[in-house]
Amino acid sequence: MEKITASIITIGDELLIGQTIDTNSAWMAQQLNNMGIWVQRRVAVGDTRQAIVEALDAESATADIILITGGLGPTADDITKPTLTAYFGGKLVSHEPTLQRLMKFFESRGLPVLQRNVDQALVPDVCTVLFNNWGLAPGMWFEKDGKVYVSMPGVPHEMKGIMEHHVLPRLQEQFPTKAVIHQTLLTSGLGESFIAERLLNFEANLPPYIKLAYLPSYGLLKLRLTALGEDKVSTAAELKLHFQEMQTLLADITVAEEDIPMGEVLGRILRAGNKTVGTAESCTGGYIAHNITAIPGSSAYFKGSVVTYSNEMKMKLLAVKEETLAAHGAVSEETVREMAAGALQLLETDYAIAVSGIMGPDGGSPEKPVGTVWIAVASAANIVTVKHRMIYDRERNIHMTAIYAMNELRKLLNA
Ligand code: AMP
Ligand code: MG
Repeated sequence: MEKITASIITIGDELLIGQTIDTNSAWMAQQLNNMGIWVQRRVAVGDTRQAIVEALDAESATADIILITGGLGPTADDITKPTLTAYFGGKLVSHEPTLQRLMKFFESRGLPVLQRNVDQALVPDVCTVLFNNWGLAPGMWFEKDGKVYVSMPGVPHEMKGIMEHHVLPRLQEQFPTKAVIHQTLLTSGLGESFIAERLLNFEANLPPYIKLAYLPSYGLLKLRLTALGEDKVSTAAELKLHFQEMQTLLADITVAEEDIPMGEVLGRILRAGNKTVGTAESCTGGYIAHNITAIPGSSAYFKGSVVTYSNEMKMKLLAVKEETLAAHGAVSEETVREMAAGALQLLETDYAIAVSGIMGPDGGSPEKPVGTVWIAVASAANIVTVKHRMIYDRERNIHMTAIYAMNELRKLLNA
């Protein structure tokens, strides 16, 4: 079976100037990848006929499938539809179900139907219409010289609806693919070059159809194994053997054996142990609480948080002592210890996380440079503190502090 390849073309000037981030092609690439279709290129082009035609020519030269989003709105700047109609040599005709949906949409809102809206129901007579149940502009499926081209609206949830309900099932039918199986090991605490040293033999002995990828991400390192095979069950079984071998080599730094958020890692352990947690946050401003509560069902183990940004609130809400703050400062081991102990009392939880740090870009001093952060994790019986020195911008420092702090709690929970 040969490799099926796809290209994704996203259309819109807003993508080129960075006003809109192209999330569509990332999502589409994931879907195609899951099906075993190899995305060979992702291209963004502006709203001009020439740019669109050039991209279609270039991508169809090498890809079996060309997925296109954007440029289907009712305004003059959106020209994808007439461009495709000319490209595939058809003429525009009205699509009755789309027109009906459109009329109903405006009627129910008491709005007049403008000609430019009626025109949204026009489709080239050389395409298969993919009905848009999530918006007004229909998707369009073209075939030419054995290649498939699909045009979809740029609005992400409309594109996703059309992909999930029309495009992916049709592609599955038309392009039988190899099995592609991924499994990701989440690690923390060792840099990628050191991990690479540990995995030297393992990597060298992997069969050619199993690949290892290193994906660093905010204080974590993801190690993804991907196997390509003819059959899903046997490919998954073989991947599992290699994955277990890798996991054994990295047991001391393993966070999870799948790619899940740190909030979920904590949630699973807390839930299993029937334990509760709360946070006392200074420099992260509630971001750790956000990470924990982003997981559905977190009310089973998360009780609450305090964001104590000022010294005054650290004293008032967490009973941090004035002398401690005066002697050691807000960013200190002594202060985060008292914050964590105060949080256990105030929030009445089994575990607490406390953080205090200088996230930048200003506010550092020679003894406590920007990026200095103290973390404490505590239970009634135990308290563990760690210091980190972050070197990134404010946003990333906050993000990494949250991950480091949650990982410390994970270690304490597993101790
Ligand atoms: P359009 O189909 O060109 O009218 O696009 C409608 C809206 O969808 C735009 O205003 C963007 O906000 C959004 N959009 C278009 N392309 C993308 C993309 N590749 N990723 C994420 N959003 C997009
Ligand atoms: Mg547009």
